Amino acid sequence: MKITRISAYQLDLPRQAAFTLSGGRTVAAFDTTVVRVDTDAGLTGLGEVCPFGSAYLPAYAKGARTGIAELAPQLIGDDPRQVEALYRRMDGLLKGHPYVKSALDIAMWDILGQTAGLPLYVLLGGRHGQSIPLYQPISHDVPDRMAAQVKAAQEAGYARFQPKVGANPDDDIARLRAVLTVTRPGDVVVADANGGWFTHQARRFVGAMAGAPIYVEQPCAGYDECLSIRAASALPFVLDESIDSAAMVLRLQRDHAADLINLKLAKVGGLTPARQIRDLCVSLGIAMTIEDSGGGDVIAAAITHLAQATPVANRYALCNAYFLVKRHFADGVPEIRDGAVTATDAPGLGLRLREQELGKPFFSTH
Ligand code: MG
Repeated sequence: MKITRISAYQLDLPRQAAFTLSGGRTVAAFDTTVVRVDTDAGLTGLGEVCPFGSAYLPAYAKGARTGIAELAPQLIGDDPRQVEALYRRMDGLLKGHPYVKSALDIAMWDILGQTAGLPLYVLLGGRHGQSIPLYQPISHDVPDRMAAQVKAAQEAGYARFQPKVGANPDDDIARLRAVLTVTRPGDVVVADANGGWFTHQARRFVGAMAGAPIYVEQPCAGYDECLSIRAASALPFVLDESIDSAAMVLRLQRDHAADLINLKLAKVGGLTPARQIRDLCVSLGIAMTIEDSGGGDVIAAAITHLAQATPVANRYALCNAYFLVKRHFADGVPEIRDGAVTATDAPGLGLRLREQELGKPFFSTH
């Protein structure tokens, strides 16, 4: 089988509401890039990449599109089913830029699944358990409104919440205290600073919240700063932005730097490296939130398949954001029921493209 054409499309996917991280990083609509890979066998694979704005990870939407236009012509004629070999080829053509490769890699896996007639979760490790819980990110806001966001999500069936902190630590302590006035026994609360604190600020936050039923996620931007906060707190700890490779997982394990990681497809470079990191975490006994930096229908399907193929004890939750965008370009996306999703059994990603939704490609190899 040969790749005959690669096309890429830009879409704006409005979110249900604008979402804000610390530092005023707000995204009202995902600026996403959808990749379509056509083959001489008549199969079409779909991929997607969507940075959360330009100031979250070292990635930005126009960079994704420029990189895809750089790589795509060099992949024409290659066999899309040989995902690992093709990934090494992409690495040989473009050093770094994992988010660029992520969209292409997801599309290759979609084709492999369709060729095999199997849903991706079978190829990624087989079905583990049934439904996978979703978590509700809580946009950075004043304390009362963050508590109100939690209450609304509880009414929609969610029991896991990720309030955004990482600003003035006194205000952040007030934010978490407000959230904890509305949480119920069994609810899970992860205070995510997205690297927004200096160590003195993070130290004040974890000191004030000692003993509270919360997790702390990525308090500071740098790994070593996070490690110093980890040593100062008994709260369960999550690392996200700092963990972008298998090598960083090994470092985390050596340093006891966190109890969980957030595994984002675009951050590590797609399903091929995410599967390797997932397997490493399973071997090491590390739990994972499986998610991405943004996106819509393809990302929702891809993370559901990877999570479904991950042992229940190792998978912590999925982010709900990609399932809830207000514009769709494919059918067959797993549906949310009671704050959880289950992978579908259709081959590959299990999606049916709504071609008219994509419009004109911004790039096509011919
Ligand atoms: Mg995070």
